[in-house]
Amino acid sequence: MGTTASFDNGLALEEQRLVVNATDFARDHLAHNPSFDSAGHRELLRLACGVGLAGIEVPVESGGAGASFSARMRVCEELARTHPGFAFSLVNHHNIVSRIALSGQPSVKRDLVPAMLEGALIGCTAMTEPQSGSDFAGMQTTATRTQDGWRLNGAKAWITNASLADVFLVYAQTDAAAGAAGIAGFIVLAEDAGFIRGDAYKATGVEGMAVGQFSLEDCRVPEERVLYPAPGGFKAALRGVNQARVHVAAMNAAMVENAMNTALRHASSRQAFGKSIVEFQGVGWSLADVATHLHAMRLLAYVAAEAIDSNHDAQVSAAMAKKYANDHAASAISACMQAMGARGITDEVGLARLLGWAKAFCYTDGTPEMMNERIVRALRKNTQEVSMQH
Ligand SMILES: Cc1cc2nc3c(=O)[nH]c(=O)nc-3n(C[C@H](O)[C@H](O)[C@H](O)COP(=O)(O)OP(=O)(O)OC[C@H]3O[C@@H](n4cnc5c(N)ncnc54)[C@H](O)[C@@H]3O)c2cc1C
Repeated sequence: MGTTASFDNGLALEEQRLVVNATDFARDHLAHNPSFDSAGHRELLRLACGVGLAGIEVPVESGGAGASFSARMRVCEELARTHPGFAFSLVNHHNIVSRIALSGQPSVKRDLVPAMLEGALIGCTAMTEPQSGSDFAGMQTTATRTQDGWRLNGAKAWITNASLADVFLVYAQTDAAAGAAGIAGFIVLAEDAGFIRGDAYKATGVEGMAVGQFSLEDCRVPEERVLYPAPGGFKAALRGVNQARVHVAAMNAAMVENAMNTALRHASSRQAFGKSIVEFQGVGWSLADVATHLHAMRLLAYVAAEAIDSNHDAQVSAAMAKKYANDHAASAISACMQAMGARGITDEVGLARLLGWAKAFCYTDGTPEMMNERIVRALRKNTQEVSMQH
């Protein structure tokens, strides 16, 4: 445990094949600065779907591989060695395919799942709104019952894939008085009347993620496209976020490993004051710190993945994995850049780009502050339980 190879030994052969597909895909399609305009991005997603990467956890009877969460995490990690943004875009698409395959109505599954597995239709998940992110239950998008379904009004912000997606899992409030229990999940299509796509965000660390926004104005959604009726929507959304925290942690580990290997190669060959710079304690120890953080990041992510696959409560281990990765990835990458001198900031070396993604991943699927909130809630609950026993 602790290395990708030893972890992969615990995966089934079919799962290991998916991990290899991801490695090969990254080498063949992501390594040489692919275009991330809308058409180029869609084509990359389609190619990745073609080697099974949109169906990892999708049940076999729906056309997927029925593989474990650990396999999904390892695929994300492999892709993130080369392009963390694309890895995040693809896994966001994968997640909605898998949700529709598991919880969708038969007609919705039939209409969407095969096309999404092929990459002909691309999906995304929309929780965040312009005025509420961490406070998910504070959303203002409303869903009002009509005779044959629902009418949605509101706006969503900072949604991965939203600038090119066709299928949107939109969380909306059906009963403001009920709070979190009023939240439901709806499948909205880009072609639905009342769906209005906004501009993609121009920001640091969003390359390859097609992060966008949209609004819904009297957008009618038929009853069969309710994926998670209230009161189940809030819990269903958080279940997905919990898993996402773990694959994001593993993706951070991949970025740090990439930076560390690049810095080590440079520091071992670069000479100063008559020796290679890695022999200076200031450089060598800083890389030793990076290696230690990398090992810890990976262990935390892998332990949380195993908890998820064993159906144990993984909320705290997932929060710890993401918090640790967010707290250390950017500083570890920065230390690697420092060890390379001025070369460390060049586009050719590409580490500055990793810094952007490391920062962006501090917001996706919950900030480190919200991870702390989750962890401390568990600590307080444990303390209360212990004091009640005495
Ligand atoms: C690249 C990118 C991709 C994204 N993709 C998606 C997506 O696909 N789908 C989606 O729904 N969302 C997505 N998001 C949005 C993301 O989930 C939110 O940015 C995140 O939840 C934080 O919300 P916020 O940005 O509104 O910050 P806010 O919630 O306004 O928080 C601002 C600051 O206050 C802190 N804070 C808030 N509440 C507390 C508290 N109780 N205790 C301590 N500190 C607190 C936060 O940690 C943060 O530092 C994405 C964001 C980015 C940057």
